[in-house]
Amino acid sequence: MTSSRQPDVIVVGSGIIGIACAHYLNAAGLQVTVIDQGTIGGACSYGNCGYICPSHVMPLTEPGAIGTALKSLFNPHAAFRVKPRFSPALLKWMWQFASRCNQRQMLAAGRHLQAILDASMREYKRLIAEERFQCEWKETGLLYVLRTEHGMEEFAKTDRLLTDHFGVIARRIEGRDLIQFDPALKAGLAGAFHYANDTSLRPDLLNASWSKRLKERGVTFLERCELQRLEKSNGRIARIVTSQGAMTADRFVIATGAWSSRLSTELECPIPIEQGKGYSVTMSRPTPCPLYPMLFPEHRVGVSPFEQGYRLGSMMEFAGFDSSIPAHRIQQLRDSASHYLTASSPTGELQTWYGWRPMTWDSLPIIGRTPRLANAYLATGHNMLGMSLATATGKLIAELMAGQSTHIDAGPFSPQRFL
Ligand SMILES: Cc1cc2nc3c(=O)[nH]c(=O)nc-3n(C[C@H](O)[C@H](O)[C@H](O)COP(=O)(O)OP(=O)(O)OC[C@H]3O[C@@H](n4cnc5c(N)ncnc54)[C@H](O)[C@@H]3O)c2cc1C
Repeated sequence: MTSSRQPDVIVVGSGIIGIACAHYLNAAGLQVTVIDQGTIGGACSYGNCGYICPSHVMPLTEPGAIGTALKSLFNPHAAFRVKPRFSPALLKWMWQFASRCNQRQMLAAGRHLQAILDASMREYKRLIAEERFQCEWKETGLLYVLRTEHGMEEFAKTDRLLTDHFGVIARRIEGRDLIQFDPALKAGLAGAFHYANDTSLRPDLLNASWSKRLKERGVTFLERCELQRLEKSNGRIARIVTSQGAMTADRFVIATGAWSSRLSTELECPIPIEQGKGYSVTMSRPTPCPLYPMLFPEHRVGVSPFEQGYRLGSMMEFAGFDSSIPAHRIQQLRDSASHYLTASSPTGELQTWYGWRPMTWDSLPIIGRTPRLANAYLATGHNMLGMSLATATGKLIAELMAGQSTHIDAGPFSPQRFL
């Protein structure tokens, strides 16, 4: 069921963030149209690892991150890599990022992230129970597996920090008990930490079933409809010009992920987002297939076992809008997993994928009204956690638009912070 009347809200971008915004705005009784230059959920929200992980409170801006980035300039195989190129925006971004890589700011960002991660998890649980989306939602927790004793001791420090500062508690599993825990793991690994409150899902299935439900409720989705420019009057967006013609609405939500900084000038608001490129490869399930979604911190690789497949995902490359998928990156994912898993990586059809994560320099998303346009809202910059943060983001946007008090403090995520 769709409506032909002018929408109350146009959401630009149909990734997981745009879909979540459309959901909460529709639930608030508003007529919503979502437009996307590509297909619904077809960009970064498509082939990611699908962890909904409140344990991920630590931002990327940790002490030492900038040293890792500098070393990567000379190593094309580094999982975290800045590709050398001249870009004033990237240099400024890196400078701001580097200035936050200290314990105090890391913990401060972590506290803001924790608030929105926990709120999102509460919303996900409610939504999954009410809406019964077919998305392979699994409450198995997330397993961080360490190969070496050194890796185990280093990760134990992170785990202690999570417990002491954030109350996030994991079960430590020694190497000798690991195979019993997940028989897909090799003998001889050092151990693991199990974060039982994390969950996982299959992202493409969630996007498909959530957008289908919204269409049934009257939300209009327009694919291959690119926002090209804004027409403004009296401090408001009067209408938008798209590849399918001009459109108007009372309010607009910009949920354009890694593309968002392109709209900074038109929105009269700095949007310091860089593309953090990652890769995944999806294959048929190996035998034995891991029971748990897993992360291998020493190789920075994630494993997502699905009902009809199995995915390896990783890498963080700052290389601009680069859409190549180098074979060596895919091989690297498979080689990394082979250190941990008994099954050799399945042969047969491989689905290779890249996504551009929308990375902010302070590791926090950008959620709220733009400072200079009264009817434009940003919902972007979700870094490595867009799946995990989608529900609270959508809820915040609906609350802010309605002028209600918000379910968590929206201040730390405000676009105002970049003025
Ligand atoms: C390898 C990898 C693994 C990951 N794993 C996880 C994970 O396990 N858990 C987690 O929480 N997160 C994970 N992420 C991060 C997560 O995928 C992103 O944070 C999230 O997808 C961002 O969602 P989004 O809706 O903002 O962006 P997108 O999904 O990229 O959506 C933005 C949309 O805007 C559209 N758009 C842009 N410009 C315009 C325009 N001018 N007009 C119209 N449409 C436009 C685009 O076409 C796109 O569809 C991972 C990312 C990668 C790369």
